Amino acid sequence: MKDANTISLEAAQGEPVDFEFQLTFPLEALDREPLVEISPVHFAGQVSAIESGFALQGDLGWGGRLECSRCLVAYPFRSDEEFSLVLYPRQPAERDERELEREELDVYFFETPDVAVAPIVEERIQMAVPMKPLCREDCRGLCVHCGQDLNVATCHCNEKSIDARWEALKKLKKV
Ligand SMILES: [Zn+2]
Ligand SMILES: [Zn+2]
Repeated sequence: MKDANTISLEAAQGEPVDFEFQLTFPLEALDREPLVEISPVHFAGQVSAIESGFALQGDLGWGGRLECSRCLVAYPFRSDEEFSLVLYPRQPAERDERELEREELDVYFFETPDVAVAPIVEERIQMAVPMKPLCREDCRGLCVHCGQDLNVATCHCNEKSIDARWEALKKLKKV
């Protein structure tokens, strides 16, 4: 089955080719726990031929909801980025040389002249999802004792434990 979401490098051989895709990724496929919702992904840009390969310039935009790692509330998230990529044909014989270049710039090795965009886009999404998302920089999280969301209301657990320690100290002083 031919994937409709491909860029034809043969067409870009002559002159730069513009592209625009709307992609959907099922959450299960991305398998990133903090990501609880994802919108369709917009990917547009241009591919042009360069020496021994192709250069891709892309704009990637998507949104969704992430679960805050402190208070566990799902909050809206938006990612818009511009990136460039160099596309080289996969040639095992030249691998060592390519390995070196790979450290300097983002390289993608293609197998066929019709390059599927989904794997390229998925890699960017994976990089954009934070390991420990925060709904806001100073999220106060949940109380470890009663589970109260401390952004919404305060609980009295902390006071109680301070009181308890204070009482213990007073007792010590009496002795
Ligand atoms: Zn939070
Ligand atoms: Zn509490």
